[in-house]
Amino acid sequence: MQDSPLAQRISLLQGEGAYKVLAQATALEAQGRNIIHLEIGQPNFHTPLNIQQAAFQAIAAGKTGYTAAQGLLETRQAIAEYCWKYKQVKTNPDEIVVTPGAKPIIFYTMLALINPGDEVICPNPGFPTYASCIHFTGGKEVALKLLVENSFQPDPDELRSLLNEKTKLVILNNPSNPTGHMISKERMLQLVEIIRDHSKAYILCDEIYDRLIFDQTQALSSAAVAGMKDRTILLDGFSKTYAMTGWRLGYGVMQADIAAAFSTLMVNSNGCAASFSQIAAIEALRGPQESVTMMRDAFAERSVWLAKALNQIDGIECQIPNSAFYVFPSVKKTGIGSAEFADRLLKEAGVAALDGESFGFYGKDHLRLSTANSMENIQEAAARIAAFTASLQATV
Ligand code: PLP
Repeated sequence: MQDSPLAQRISLLQGEGAYKVLAQATALEAQGRNIIHLEIGQPNFHTPLNIQQAAFQAIAAGKTGYTAAQGLLETRQAIAEYCWKYKQVKTNPDEIVVTPGAKPIIFYTMLALINPGDEVICPNPGFPTYASCIHFTGGKEVALKLLVENSFQPDPDELRSLLNEKTKLVILNNPSNPTGHMISKERMLQLVEIIRDHSKAYILCDEIYDRLIFDQTQALSSAAVAGMKDRTILLDGFSKTYAMTGWRLGYGVMQADIAAAFSTLMVNSNGCAASFSQIAAIEALRGPQESVTMMRDAFAERSVWLAKALNQIDGIECQIPNSAFYVFPSVKKTGIGSAEFADRLLKEAGVAALDGESFGFYGKDHLRLSTANSMENIQEAAARIAAFTASLQATV
Protein backbone atom coordinates (compact mmCIF):
# COMPACT_ATOMS: atom_id res chain seq x y z
CA MET A 1 0.00 0.00 0.00
CA GLN A 2 1.28 3.43 -0.91
CA ASP A 3 1.39 6.13 1.74
CA SER A 4 -1.51 8.55 1.46
CA PRO A 5 -0.60 11.61 -0.62
CA LEU A 6 -2.75 13.79 1.63
CA ALA A 7 -1.34 16.31 4.06
CA GLN A 8 -2.20 15.55 7.68
CA ARG A 9 -4.39 18.64 7.98
CA ILE A 10 -6.95 17.18 5.57
CA SER A 11 -7.96 14.61 8.20
CA LEU A 12 -8.95 17.51 10.47
CA LEU A 13 -11.77 18.58 8.17
CA GLN A 14 -15.13 16.88 8.48
CA GLY A 15 -17.95 16.50 5.96
CA GLU A 16 -21.59 17.45 6.44
CA GLY A 17 -24.30 14.96 7.39
CA ALA A 18 -26.70 16.63 4.95
CA TYR A 19 -24.55 15.83 1.91
CA LYS A 20 -23.94 12.27 3.15
CA VAL A 21 -27.63 11.51 3.67
CA LEU A 22 -28.54 13.21 0.37
CA ALA A 23 -26.16 10.81 -1.41
CA GLN A 24 -27.71 7.79 0.37
CA ALA A 25 -31.23 9.00 -0.42
CA THR A 26 -30.36 9.59 -4.07
CA ALA A 27 -28.91 6.07 -4.31
CA LEU A 28 -32.19 4.65 -2.96
CA GLU A 29 -34.15 6.73 -5.49
CA ALA A 30 -32.00 5.29 -8.25
CA GLN A 31 -33.26 1.87 -7.12
CA GLY A 32 -36.84 3.11 -7.63
CA ARG A 33 -37.65 4.03 -4.01
CA ASN A 34 -39.81 7.06 -3.23
CA ILE A 35 -37.92 9.31 -0.80
CA ILE A 36 -39.11 12.51 0.87
CA HIS A 37 -36.16 14.83 1.30
CA LEU A 38 -36.13 16.56 4.67
CA GLU A 39 -32.34 16.46 5.00
CA ILE A 40 -31.11 19.36 2.92
CA GLY A 41 -31.23 22.97 4.09
CA GLN A 42 -32.10 24.91 0.99
CA PRO A 43 -35.32 26.82 0.21
CA ASN A 44 -37.56 24.96 -2.25
CA PHE A 45 -38.46 28.21 -3.99
CA HIS A 46 -37.13 29.73 -7.18
CA THR A 47 -35.00 32.82 -6.82
CA PRO A 48 -37.43 35.78 -7.12
CA LEU A 49 -37.93 36.95 -10.70
CA ASN A 50 -36.61 40.49 -10.21
CA ILE A 51 -33.29 39.03 -9.00
CA GLN A 52 -33.11 36.56 -11.90
CA GLN A 53 -33.74 39.41 -14.36
CA ALA A 54 -30.99 41.55 -12.85
CA ALA A 55 -28.56 38.68 -13.42
CA PHE A 56 -29.73 38.07 -17.02
CA GLN A 57 -29.26 41.75 -17.79
CA ALA A 58 -25.81 41.80 -16.21
CA ILE A 59 -24.70 38.81 -18.27
CA ALA A 60 -26.17 40.29 -21.48
CA ALA A 61 -24.34 43.55 -20.79
CA GLY A 62 -21.06 41.66 -20.56
CA LYS A 63 -20.61 42.09 -16.84
CA THR A 64 -19.01 38.66 -16.61
CA GLY A 65 -15.43 39.42 -15.66
CA TYR A 66 -13.44 39.43 -12.45
CA THR A 67 -14.36 41.98 -9.84
CA ALA A 68 -12.36 43.40 -6.95
CA ALA A 69 -11.51 40.53 -4.57
CA GLN A 70 -13.37 42.31 -1.78
CA GLY A 71 -16.50 42.60 -3.95
CA LEU A 72 -18.01 45.24 -6.24
CA LEU A 73 -18.16 48.64 -4.54
CA GLU A 74 -21.86 49.06 -5.36
CA THR A 75 -22.68 45.64 -3.90
CA ARG A 76 -20.83 46.53 -0.71
CA GLN A 77 -22.65 49.88 -0.59
CA ALA A 78 -26.00 48.08 -0.91
CA ILE A 79 -24.95 45.67 1.85
CA ALA A 80 -24.01 48.59 4.11
CA GLU A 81 -27.47 50.18 3.55
CA TYR A 82 -29.14 46.84 4.22
CA CYS A 83 -27.19 46.27 7.46
CA TRP A 84 -28.34 49.64 8.72
CA LYS A 85 -31.96 49.07 7.71
CA TYR A 86 -32.39 45.49 8.96
CA LYS A 87 -29.76 45.10 11.67
CA GLN A 88 -29.09 48.64 12.93
CA VAL A 89 -25.42 48.04 12.21
CA LYS A 90 -23.63 51.08 10.81
CA THR A 91 -20.91 50.05 8.43
CA ASN A 92 -19.22 51.05 5.17
CA PRO A 93 -17.80 49.26 2.10
CA ASP A 94 -14.27 49.07 3.58
CA GLU A 95 -15.60 46.83 6.32
CA ILE A 96 -17.41 44.42 3.99
CA VAL A 97 -16.07 41.41 2.11
CA VAL A 98 -18.26 39.63 -0.46
CA THR A 99 -17.62 35.90 -0.83
CA PRO A 100 -18.95 32.96 -2.88
CA GLY A 101 -21.57 31.85 -0.33
CA ALA A 102 -21.30 32.69 3.33
CA LYS A 103 -19.29 29.57 4.15
CA PRO A 104 -15.92 31.18 3.27
CA ILE A 105 -16.59 33.76 6.01
CA ILE A 106 -16.51 30.90 8.54
CA PHE A 107 -13.34 29.44 7.02
CA TYR A 108 -11.60 32.82 6.74
CA THR A 109 -12.53 33.78 10.30
CA MET A 110 -10.67 30.73 11.60
CA LEU A 111 -7.75 31.16 9.17
CA ALA A 112 -7.38 34.85 10.00
CA LEU A 113 -7.93 34.77 13.79
CA ILE A 114 -7.14 31.36 15.23
CA ASN A 115 -3.65 30.27 16.27
CA PRO A 116 -3.08 26.67 17.39
CA GLY A 117 -4.31 26.30 20.97
CA ASP A 118 -6.74 29.23 20.85
CA GLU A 119 -10.14 28.38 22.24
CA VAL A 120 -13.31 28.89 20.22
CA ILE A 121 -16.67 28.68 21.95
CA CYS A 122 -19.07 27.05 19.55
CA PRO A 123 -22.80 26.29 19.69
CA ASN A 124 -23.48 22.60 20.17
CA PRO A 125 -25.54 21.39 18.36
CA GLY A 126 -24.33 23.77 15.65
CA PHE A 127 -23.60 24.09 11.95
CA PRO A 128 -20.88 21.44 11.33
CA THR A 129 -18.60 23.76 9.34
CA TYR A 130 -17.80 25.71 12.52
CA ALA A 131 -16.19 22.77 14.32
CA SER A 132 -14.53 21.52 11.17
CA CYS A 133 -12.82 24.86 10.49
CA ILE A 134 -11.82 25.26 14.16
CA HIS A 135 -10.10 21.85 14.10
CA PHE A 136 -8.49 22.61 10.75
CA THR A 137 -6.73 25.68 12.12
CA GLY A 138 -5.59 23.96 15.33
CA GLY A 139 -8.09 25.74 17.56
CA LYS A 140 -9.78 24.07 20.51
CA GLU A 141 -13.53 23.69 20.18
CA VAL A 142 -15.36 24.49 23.40
CA ALA A 143 -19.03 23.47 23.36
CA LEU A 144 -21.71 26.01 24.29
CA LYS A 145 -24.77 23.86 24.85
CA LEU A 146 -28.10 24.54 23.16
CA LEU A 147 -30.56 22.51 25.21
CA VAL A 148 -34.27 22.00 24.79
CA GLU A 149 -34.91 23.05 28.41
CA ASN A 150 -33.44 26.49 27.57
CA SER A 151 -35.49 26.75 24.36
CA PHE A 152 -32.20 26.01 22.60
CA GLN A 153 -30.73 29.37 23.65
CA PRO A 154 -27.19 29.60 25.12
CA ASP A 155 -27.10 29.86 28.90
CA PRO A 156 -25.37 33.09 30.06
CA ASP A 157 -23.87 31.45 33.18
CA GLU A 158 -22.40 28.66 31.11
CA LEU A 159 -20.94 31.16 28.65
CA ARG A 160 -19.34 33.14 31.49
CA SER A 161 -17.80 29.97 32.91
CA LEU A 162 -16.28 29.02 29.54
CA LEU A 163 -14.60 32.36 28.79
CA ASN A 164 -10.93 32.67 29.73
CA GLU A 165 -7.75 34.33 28.48
CA LYS A 166 -7.35 31.66 25.78
CA THR A 167 -10.80 32.34 24.29
CA LYS A 168 -10.22 34.00 20.93
CA LEU A 169 -13.67 33.67 19.44
CA VAL A 170 -17.27 32.95 20.38
CA ILE A 171 -19.64 31.79 17.65
CA LEU A 172 -23.29 32.80 17.96
CA ASN A 173 -25.78 31.60 15.36
CA ASN A 174 -29.05 33.44 15.53
CA PRO A 175 -31.50 31.98 14.50
CA SER A 176 -29.94 28.56 14.79
CA ASN A 177 -29.33 25.75 12.41
CA PRO A 178 -30.20 22.99 13.42
CA THR A 179 -32.70 23.92 16.14
CA GLY A 180 -34.96 26.45 14.35
CA HIS A 181 -34.89 28.66 17.44
CA MET A 182 -33.74 32.25 17.79
CA ILE A 183 -31.96 33.95 20.68
CA SER A 184 -34.27 36.58 22.14
CA LYS A 185 -33.06 40.20 22.10
CA GLU A 186 -32.74 40.27 25.87
CA ARG A 187 -30.75 37.03 25.98
CA MET A 188 -28.53 38.12 23.11
CA LEU A 189 -27.73 41.40 24.84
CA GLN A 190 -26.85 39.50 28.02
CA LEU A 191 -24.56 37.11 26.14
CA VAL A 192 -22.79 39.85 24.21
CA GLU A 193 -22.28 41.99 27.32
CA ILE A 194 -20.71 39.01 29.09
CA ILE A 195 -18.31 38.53 26.20
CA ARG A 196 -17.55 42.27 26.10
CA ASP A 197 -17.01 42.65 29.83
CA HIS A 198 -15.25 39.38 30.66
CA SER A 199 -12.93 38.71 27.75
CA LYS A 200 -11.09 40.05 24.72
CA ALA A 201 -12.79 37.50 22.49
CA TYR A 202 -14.24 38.26 19.08
CA ILE A 203 -17.69 37.12 18.01
CA LEU A 204 -18.59 35.38 14.78
CA CYS A 205 -22.26 36.35 14.58
CA ASP A 206 -23.91 34.11 11.98
CA GLU A 207 -27.17 35.80 10.98
CA ILE A 208 -27.92 33.87 7.82
CA TYR A 209 -31.49 33.04 8.96
CA ASP A 210 -32.35 36.42 10.50
CA ARG A 211 -35.04 37.33 7.94
CA LEU A 212 -36.81 34.04 8.58
CA ILE A 213 -38.18 34.78 12.05
CA PHE A 214 -41.82 33.75 12.13
CA ASP A 215 -43.29 36.50 14.33
CA GLN A 216 -41.19 39.15 12.53
CA THR A 217 -39.21 40.04 15.65
CA GLN A 218 -35.78 41.34 14.72
CA ALA A 219 -32.74 39.43 15.89
CA LEU A 220 -30.14 41.50 17.72
CA SER A 221 -26.76 41.52 16.01
CA SER A 222 -23.75 41.58 18.32
CA ALA A 223 -22.38 44.30 16.00
CA ALA A 224 -25.26 46.55 17.10
CA VAL A 225 -24.28 46.31 20.80
CA ALA A 226 -22.28 49.23 22.19
CA GLY A 227 -18.54 48.60 21.95
CA MET A 228 -18.89 45.34 20.03
CA LYS A 229 -18.94 46.34 16.39
CA ASP A 230 -15.15 46.06 16.02
CA ARG A 231 -15.14 42.77 17.89
CA THR A 232 -17.77 41.20 15.64
CA ILE A 233 -17.47 39.41 12.35
CA LEU A 234 -21.03 39.52 11.11
CA LEU A 235 -21.91 36.75 8.64
CA ASP A 236 -24.87 36.93 6.32
CA GLY A 237 -25.72 35.97 2.77
CA PHE A 238 -28.28 35.46 0.06
CA SER A 239 -28.75 31.66 0.11
CA LYS A 240 -31.58 31.45 2.62
CA THR A 241 -33.24 34.87 2.55
CA TYR A 242 -33.52 35.09 -1.23
CA ALA A 243 -33.47 31.38 -2.20
CA MET A 244 -30.08 31.80 -3.88
CA THR A 245 -28.08 28.81 -2.61
CA GLY A 246 -26.56 28.00 -6.00
CA TRP A 247 -25.64 31.60 -6.80
CA ARG A 248 -22.94 31.32 -4.13
CA LEU A 249 -23.05 34.72 -2.52
CA GLY A 250 -22.50 35.80 1.04
CA TYR A 251 -20.63 38.46 2.98
CA GLY A 252 -18.94 39.40 6.19
CA VAL A 253 -18.87 42.73 8.01
CA MET A 254 -15.83 43.34 10.20
CA GLN A 255 -13.24 45.96 11.18
CA ALA A 256 -11.32 47.20 8.12
CA ASP A 257 -7.98 45.52 8.91
CA ILE A 258 -9.64 42.12 9.30
CA ALA A 259 -11.51 42.85 6.05
CA ALA A 260 -8.14 43.48 4.36
CA ALA A 261 -6.92 40.04 5.58
CA PHE A 262 -10.11 38.42 4.29
CA SER A 263 -9.59 40.12 0.91
CA THR A 264 -6.10 38.65 0.74
CA LEU A 265 -7.57 35.23 1.53
CA MET A 266 -10.05 35.83 -1.32
CA VAL A 267 -7.20 36.74 -3.71
CA ASN A 268 -5.48 33.49 -2.81
CA SER A 269 -8.50 31.21 -3.01
CA ASN A 270 -11.59 32.32 -4.94
CA GLY A 271 -10.33 35.46 -6.63
CA CYS A 272 -13.78 37.01 -6.35
CA ALA A 273 -17.44 36.10 -6.12
CA ALA A 274 -19.28 35.77 -9.48
CA SER A 275 -19.78 39.25 -10.97
CA PHE A 276 -23.40 38.72 -12.09
CA SER A 277 -24.35 37.19 -8.73
CA GLN A 278 -22.99 40.34 -7.08
CA ILE A 279 -25.01 42.56 -9.42
CA ALA A 280 -28.18 40.53 -8.85
CA ALA A 281 -27.54 40.87 -5.12
CA ILE A 282 -27.96 44.64 -5.38
CA GLU A 283 -31.48 44.06 -6.72
CA ALA A 284 -32.12 41.50 -3.96
CA LEU A 285 -31.15 43.98 -1.25
CA ARG A 286 -32.71 47.15 -2.66
CA GLY A 287 -35.67 45.68 -4.57
CA PRO A 288 -39.10 44.56 -3.32
CA GLN A 289 -39.02 42.24 -0.32
CA GLU A 290 -42.46 40.58 -0.71
CA SER A 291 -40.95 37.26 -1.75
CA VAL A 292 -38.95 37.13 1.48
CA THR A 293 -42.16 37.61 3.45
CA MET A 294 -43.93 34.95 1.38
CA MET A 295 -41.14 32.40 1.91
CA ARG A 296 -40.88 33.20 5.63
CA ASP A 297 -44.63 32.70 6.10
CA ALA A 298 -44.54 29.42 4.19
CA PHE A 299 -41.65 28.11 6.33
CA ALA A 300 -43.50 29.22 9.47
CA GLU A 301 -46.69 27.41 8.48
CA ARG A 302 -44.88 24.19 7.58
CA SER A 303 -42.51 24.15 10.56
CA VAL A 304 -45.26 24.80 13.09
CA TRP A 305 -47.53 22.24 11.41
CA LEU A 306 -44.81 19.57 11.39
CA ALA A 307 -43.78 20.17 15.02
CA LYS A 308 -47.40 19.84 16.13
CA ALA A 309 -47.91 16.69 14.05
CA LEU A 310 -44.74 15.15 15.56
CA ASN A 311 -46.02 15.92 19.06
CA GLN A 312 -49.02 13.71 18.32
CA ILE A 313 -46.70 10.72 17.87
CA ASP A 314 -46.08 8.57 20.91
CA GLY A 315 -42.32 8.67 21.65
CA ILE A 316 -41.56 11.98 19.86
CA GLU A 317 -41.38 15.41 21.51
CA CYS A 318 -40.85 18.60 19.60
CA GLN A 319 -40.55 22.18 20.75
CA ILE A 320 -42.38 24.46 18.30
CA PRO A 321 -39.68 26.30 16.30
CA ASN A 322 -39.83 30.06 15.83
CA SER A 323 -37.44 30.64 12.92
CA ALA A 324 -35.43 29.31 9.96
CA PHE A 325 -36.76 26.11 8.30
CA TYR A 326 -35.78 23.37 10.69
CA VAL A 327 -37.68 21.23 13.16
CA PHE A 328 -35.60 19.50 15.86
CA PRO A 329 -37.62 16.82 17.65
CA SER A 330 -36.37 14.44 20.34
CA VAL A 331 -36.83 10.75 19.57
CA LYS A 332 -35.31 9.66 22.88
CA LYS A 333 -38.48 8.03 24.14
CA THR A 334 -38.69 5.69 21.15
CA GLY A 335 -35.85 3.74 22.79
CA ILE A 336 -33.53 3.70 19.78
CA GLY A 337 -30.78 6.25 19.33
CA SER A 338 -31.20 9.12 16.90
CA ALA A 339 -28.53 7.76 14.51
CA GLU A 340 -30.34 4.43 14.17
CA PHE A 341 -33.70 6.21 13.99
CA ALA A 342 -32.56 8.43 11.10
CA ASP A 343 -30.90 5.55 9.28
CA ARG A 344 -33.90 3.23 9.53
CA LEU A 345 -36.36 6.04 8.82
CA LEU A 346 -34.62 6.53 5.47
CA LYS A 347 -34.29 2.87 4.60
CA GLU A 348 -37.60 1.56 5.95
CA ALA A 349 -39.94 4.55 5.57
CA GLY A 350 -38.32 6.64 2.82
CA VAL A 351 -37.90 9.87 4.82
CA ALA A 352 -34.45 11.47 4.68
CA ALA A 353 -33.65 13.25 7.96
CA LEU A 354 -30.44 14.05 9.82
CA ASP A 355 -29.24 12.62 13.10
CA GLY A 356 -29.03 15.54 15.56
CA GLU A 357 -25.65 14.29 16.74
CA SER A 358 -24.16 15.11 13.34
CA PHE A 359 -24.40 18.71 14.65
CA GLY A 360 -22.42 17.88 17.80
CA PHE A 361 -22.72 15.75 20.92
CA TYR A 362 -25.56 17.76 22.50
CA GLY A 363 -27.70 17.20 19.42
CA LYS A 364 -27.96 13.54 20.40
CA ASP A 365 -31.43 12.01 20.68
CA HIS A 366 -32.75 14.55 18.17
CA LEU A 367 -33.44 14.64 14.46
CA ARG A 368 -33.16 17.64 12.17
CA LEU A 369 -35.97 17.83 9.66
CA SER A 370 -35.93 20.57 7.05
CA THR A 371 -39.26 22.11 6.09
CA ALA A 372 -37.89 23.39 2.80
CA ASN A 373 -40.28 21.03 1.02
CA SER A 374 -43.94 21.23 -0.03
CA MET A 375 -46.68 21.02 2.61
CA GLU A 376 -47.97 17.94 0.82
CA ASN A 377 -44.62 16.14 1.15
CA ILE A 378 -44.25 17.28 4.75
CA GLN A 379 -47.67 15.84 5.57
CA GLU A 380 -46.78 12.56 3.89
CA ALA A 381 -43.45 12.52 5.77
CA ALA A 382 -45.28 13.02 9.09
CA ALA A 383 -47.57 10.06 8.28
CA ARG A 384 -44.55 7.90 7.43
CA ILE A 385 -42.74 8.93 10.64
CA ALA A 386 -45.85 8.08 12.67
CA ALA A 387 -46.15 4.64 11.06
CA PHE A 388 -42.43 3.96 11.45
CA THR A 389 -42.46 4.96 15.13
CA ALA A 390 -45.52 2.78 15.76
CA SER A 391 -43.75 -0.16 14.12
CA LEU A 392 -40.85 0.28 16.57
CA GLN A 393 -43.21 0.09 19.51
CA ALA A 394 -44.88 -2.98 18.07
CA THR A 395 -41.54 -4.78 17.99
CA VAL A 396 -40.43 -3.75 21.53
N1 PLP B 1 -24.36 29.41 8.32
C1 PLP B 1 -25.35 28.55 8.60
C2 PLP B 1 -25.86 28.45 10.00
C3 PLP B 1 -25.89 27.75 7.59
O1 PLP B 1 -26.89 26.89 7.88
C4 PLP B 1 -25.36 27.86 6.27
C5 PLP B 1 -25.87 26.99 5.20
O2 PLP B 1 -26.50 25.97 5.39
C6 PLP B 1 -24.32 28.77 6.04
C7 PLP B 1 -23.85 29.53 7.09
C8 PLP B 1 -23.67 28.91 4.69
O3 PLP B 1 -24.51 29.30 3.69
P1 PLP B 1 -24.04 29.55 2.19
O4 PLP B 1 -22.59 29.25 2.08
O5 PLP B 1 -24.87 28.68 1.32
O6 PLP B 1 -24.30 31.00 1.92
